Amino acid sequence: MTQTYDDTNIFARILRGEIPCNTIAENKSAIAFHDVSPRMPVHALVIPRGPYCNIGHFYATATPTEILDFSKLVSDVIAQLGLTETGYRVVGNTGDHGGQEVPHFHLHILGGGKLPAMVGTKAA
Ligand code: 5GP
Repeated sequence: MTQTYDDTNIFARILRGEIPCNTIAENKSAIAFHDVSPRMPVHALVIPRGPYCNIGHFYATATPTEILDFSKLVSDVIAQLGLTETGYRVVGNTGDHGGQEVPHFHLHILGGGKLPAMVGTKAA
């Protein structure tokens, strides 16, 4: 999988302030905002500010501070959105097989209701 970052993607544009987002929380290395097309009553996205294509690229090459800040923001957002007691799902779509649409690493935080089964059928 290519790890060449394309800075024309929509999240890069959000980070540059070219288009708005509905911010939930942020820190020095990461920002969380509501998904523009929510699939659950609660649907947040957490992204690093740095130019990482996907989860593998991020954890292999980000600095310890970036990784810590990103992880802390995921945890803060889960608490801030009131999901701690009810439960939630964290999803990181990656690449073609993973169905990733935006090539800037992000995690989805989904909750606010009972989620469907994670994967419907056994892989061949
Ligand atoms: P992926 O399929 O790459 O894992 O998810 C990308 C997500 O970004 C989708 O859930 C989509 O709704 C969301 N998204 C796409 N464009 C925008 C946008 O301009 N603003 C926000 N807040 N979310 C977006």
